[in-house]
Amino acid sequence: MNFLGFSFGKKGNKASKHKSATSSASSLATNSSGTHGHSSQQYQQHQQQKPLYLSSPQVNNMLVRGNFKTITELPKYVDINEWLAFNTFEFFNHINLFYGTITNFCTSQTCPTMSAGPGVEYTWSDSLSKKVKLPAPQYIDYMTSSLENTLNDESIFPTKAGPDFPRELPSVVKKMFAQMFRLFAHIYHVHYDKVLCLNEEPHFNSLFAHFISFAREFDLLDRKEIQPLNELIDVMSRNGVIC
Ligand SMILES: [Zn+2]
Repeated sequence: MNFLGFSFGKKGNKASKHKSATSSASSLATNSSGTHGHSSQQYQQHQQQKPLYLSSPQVNNMLVRGNFKTITELPKYVDINEWLAFNTFEFFNHINLFYGTITNFCTSQTCPTMSAGPGVEYTWSDSLSKKVKLPAPQYIDYMTSSLENTLNDESIFPTKAGPDFPRELPSVVKKMFAQMFRLFAHIYHVHYDKVLCLNEEPHFNSLFAHFISFAREFDLLDRKEIQPLNELIDVMSRNGVIC
């Protein structure tokens, strides 16, 4: 069975608004890395100002009570690769939808770099593996195109009966989760005021908690990668939302 057998949508029905950079986006195998460095001034500012996304009551605004354990665990009789593929597809569509709602506020003027809190600026690796700083909308455009190309690659995510998933699927999914995390981190750190204005925070928080719960269940995100949202993950874990 192919992974779209679990999907409610059709292939090609993705919410991406960012197809223009397909040709210039590099492959997931080489595509980006983060730079993490805290200046003491930035650190002090961070200590003084609690990020908006950690403030009450919005940090506790969720769509559901309880945690996501039952919907992240591998269902009985389902192949693990099918489950990874299906969920990757769904998380990609949903995070893309959220970015679509705030995309007008994410410009090269407001976001000259792909930032995610004090001292965190992600760099993109071009086709020559040279790391470059890009304005966030351009970085996200490249990233979205790259993820979409990977999801549409029949040799990685087969949609027809017959071919199996490749052995490297888990490592491909891991790279995709790292990229999607960066989009969560950028929105939480830079555009959360717009999320609040649109009353989206219960949905966004729930999607994030589900995403992290799933990543934990299948070990898809490294500790270093999640550092920009550690405090939020801690709060959600203490509240029992993230399992
Ligand atoms: Zn932005």
